[in-house]
Amino acid sequence: MLSAMRCTHCTKCCQDTRMELSAADIARLVRRGYVDGSFYRVDHDGIPRLVNVDGYCFFFDLGKGRCREYASRPLGCVIYPINLTEDGEAVIDDVCPEGESISHEELVEKAARLRKLLRTIDAEAAVRRRSRGGHRLC
Ligand code: SF4
Repeated sequence: MLSAMRCTHCTKCCQDTRMELSAADIARLVRRGYVDGSFYRVDHDGIPRLVNVDGYCFFFDLGKGRCREYASRPLGCVIYPINLTEDGEAVIDDVCPEGESISHEELVEKAARLRKLLRTIDAEAAVRRRSRGGHRLC
């Protein structure tokens, strides 16, 4: 089994988040009891992103200093701190203090998951834009 970095819950990645969500992320969190549309907003590009409350993610519990939905958190949060550059290169977000603990194998595996996730989110956003009538071909 792949060894994974150990999140120390430093909370840095849960501040001022713009984490993108897939339809599966939204459905999972709605099944957890959250009202659809309460924890994200769909931006002009058709991509749903987590919203912040007082500078922290909607799901962040300020009292406990933890994610309320850590076990059900969005896949992008699971994959973090791996990011892709505009050229598609996998990089470790230097905001994460545990970034150096990520092995090459974990980086490669998470990068593949991130590429697939972003393809899904982009495809879902394209459908939303079309349904708004923003990209008509005729
Ligand atoms: S869903 Fe949880 S892990 Fe992801 S940004 Fe929000 S509080 Fe942090």
